[in-house]
Amino acid sequence: VDVNALLLSRIRDVPDYPEPGVLFKDITPLLADPAAFTALTGALADLSVRHGATKVVGLEARGFILGAPVALRADLGFIPVRKAGKLPGATLSQRYDLEYGSAEIEVHAEDLKPDDRVMVIDDVLATGGTAEASLRLIRRAGAQVAGVAVLMELGFLNGRERLIPALDGAPLEAL
Ligand code: IMP
Repeated sequence: VDVNALLLSRIRDVPDYPEPGVLFKDITPLLADPAAFTALTGALADLSVRHGATKVVGLEARGFILGAPVALRADLGFIPVRKAGKLPGATLSQRYDLEYGSAEIEVHAEDLKPDDRVMVIDDVLATGGTAEASLRLIRRAGAQVAGVAVLMELGFLNGRERLIPALDGAPLEAL
């Protein structure tokens, strides 16, 4: 079977969510289908291995659902990047701009080592703000970036362009 066609068929478009005018890409049908979930996490794990990752970072919250099985399938450790205030240990924080206001994400500082090469996993790359902030966290911790791998890239929001400086030559893979 064509993996991309299978994945695409399991993504639901939800109009006007979470607000009027937004077409939300809902991956819950994909998660509920074991063939699609297996194909997706397998593809993301292959990319992580191919790009020489030693750790997988998942971005809260759907990046946790995908990143944990990807890490296990690639035989790599998993590191959660969380919204501010959720991690109990010593953290590095990164604030970033949203269309209205700002947001902040955090990682446990001790989880990222200088010899780590980190693959960032999420479901959707939209404006790229969240992924960009996560790359800053990884670099501030002194670790290296293996790449960013997502199921979907919303091309019209130009997230890829925004990520270019923070990627610094590392790949952005969108299935
Ligand atoms: P960005 O920071 O604008 O790139 O937004 C990306 C974050 O918002 C990711 O963590 C996504 O999970 C989430 N996101 C944005 N748009 C969608 C969508 O249409 N479906 C699912 N998640 C989305």
